Amino acid sequence: MASVPTVTGPVDAAKLGFTLMHEHVFNRSPGVFEAWPHLWDREAEIERAVGIFRELKAAGVDTIVDLTTVDLGRDVHMVREVGRQVALNIVMCTGVWRYPPRFFDRRNPDPIADLFVKDIEEGIAGTEVRAGVIKLATEPSVDALNETMLRAGARAQRRTGVPISTHTDVNTRSGLAQQDVFESEGVDLSRVVIGHSGDSDDIEYLTAIIDRGSYIGMDRFGLDFFLSTEKRVETVARLCQMGHAAKMVLSHDTNCFMDTIPRPIKEQRMPNWHFLHITNDILPALRLAGVTDDQIRTMTVDNPRRIFEKQGAY
Ligand SMILES: [Zn+2]
Repeated sequence: MASVPTVTGPVDAAKLGFTLMHEHVFNRSPGVFEAWPHLWDREAEIERAVGIFRELKAAGVDTIVDLTTVDLGRDVHMVREVGRQVALNIVMCTGVWRYPPRFFDRRNPDPIADLFVKDIEEGIAGTEVRAGVIKLATEPSVDALNETMLRAGARAQRRTGVPISTHTDVNTRSGLAQQDVFESEGVDLSRVVIGHSGDSDDIEYLTAIIDRGSYIGMDRFGLDFFLSTEKRVETVARLCQMGHAAKMVLSHDTNCFMDTIPRPIKEQRMPNWHFLHITNDILPALRLAGVTDDQIRTMTVDNPRRIFEKQGAY
């Protein structure tokens, strides 16, 4: 049995069920809300998230992977409070997003990997909540600091066996550059999800990533300004037809709270960027485009299980 850490304790990978592989609970600029706590109502936001996730569970989603890192204001205490009140599993991450704190400048990969491994093996920020995935981000392209972070994540991956899940920039095809760094560290690329690949409809780019063994995250449903819903659906359907359902995972990259866009503007400009978009709108659209129920199950249940089932250092 392969067990996966969630905020409320380990869950058998076979019981993760329908899993959204790239989401966020609370996204905040680190430090700002500690300095000006009046900027939000912490308890009200917890309650709001609980409501969203109860609805999501009722819609058939069993697990979300929260890819909120330290530079996105990861708060294990808040997410755990939410997790204790819902039946939905929440898996938290270690690693970094696009803006590693200056602490990481001019450090070597190994001591950084030690920090990631601590989150994975002991728990996050002094709690018993262990990270189940390593998040890494490259945008626009791999520079010196980013390469250090990718190498640190790769080494933590090899030491612990937990999967890597990334943020990429499809305009620079940075998924392939990430794979180059991971490969040079000896990472088994089938233990990597190259995220935000769904922002692209370039089949040649997407199959190049898949052909090297990684999964691709079709994980920004609802963010139409990067790529329209129509094109996102078309691309997933096309890749299914080509026999690649076993290499795709679906998600929204949405959140219950973010501090960079006021909530009314987010709801007005991105009306579909919410947790129920896939179950309500995208799965029916995929079926209309010829995707079978088996393929949907593969992308939403089987692939997440397989990704978390491969465990152990190597
Ligand atoms: Zn994200």
